[in-house]
Amino acid sequence: MPELDGRRALVTGGASGIGAACVRALAASGAHVVVADVDEAGAAALAEEVGGSSWTVDLLDVTALETLELDVDILVNNAGIQRVSPLEEFEPAAFRRILALMLEAPFLLVRAALPHMYEQGFGRIINVSSVHGLRASPFKGAYVAAKHGLEGLSKVAALEGGPHGVTSNCVNPGYVRTPLVEKQIAAQAEAHGIPEDEVLATVMLAESAIKRLVEPEEVGALVTWLASPHSAMVTGASYTMDGGWSAR
Ligand code: NAD
Repeated sequence: MPELDGRRALVTGGASGIGAACVRALAASGAHVVVADVDEAGAAALAEEVGGSSWTVDLLDVTALETLELDVDILVNNAGIQRVSPLEEFEPAAFRRILALMLEAPFLLVRAALPHMYEQGFGRIINVSSVHGLRASPFKGAYVAAKHGLEGLSKVAALEGGPHGVTSNCVNPGYVRTPLVEKQIAAQAEAHGIPEDEVLATVMLAESAIKRLVEPEEVGALVTWLASPHSAMVTGASYTMDGGWSAR
């Protein structure tokens, strides 16, 4: 029997990239998956593909999440955006937007999901953080701050949820082959006047032990394992998947 049969999962930012890979992997393990995304058409198409359902939601609208009640067993906080700017030029409104989407919305979704999880004595919270949840890079101030905050939130949920059968963990990918990263590679190739494979070798993967991008499906598999019965004693943890980048 598939391991997640009968479980309900919700994946934010589920219409694209890592989120879409999580949706497919969780559904393949038997879960009913709700694809939550601002991209209405993308979420609906993927929900139809996997036999799940879709929820069109702008997670920047945080006040609307304050009264939410979620009856899901598995919550994957994945939606995220990136902005690159030195701190002294970082627009305050952009900083706040990133924190709203990548820290405040996950808090509100955890808050909305815990009562149901506590009632049934089971829950899995999985936060898609980043190597930038554990280490900083210049010019990614809001992103690094939001991901570090997410790590803290995840650990508090682990401590509070443990006695109720709820685990909470982070996954911390390095560069993953998603539309977001493919755009970054193309932009850097143009900016430096070098081919894309050279951008990968000399810029993005220079410090990795394994010289390739992470595939979204690899993150989906780790997230599905964290949702499974095999990870029952894993909580408050952060799992890097970065080809050895952060080992250096
Ligand atoms: P992506 O751009 O491919 O997908 C992000 C999804 O989030 C999209 O479907 C988008 O519509 C949705 N989204 C954006 N704003 C939203 C909003 N306001 N409300 C609802 N949905 C919204 O991105 P990705 O590369 O798959 O990244 C997913 C997560 O993984 C992010 O949290 C990112 O920080 C993290 N991550 C990515 C990488 C990488 O290399 N791609 C590495 C480490 C961590």
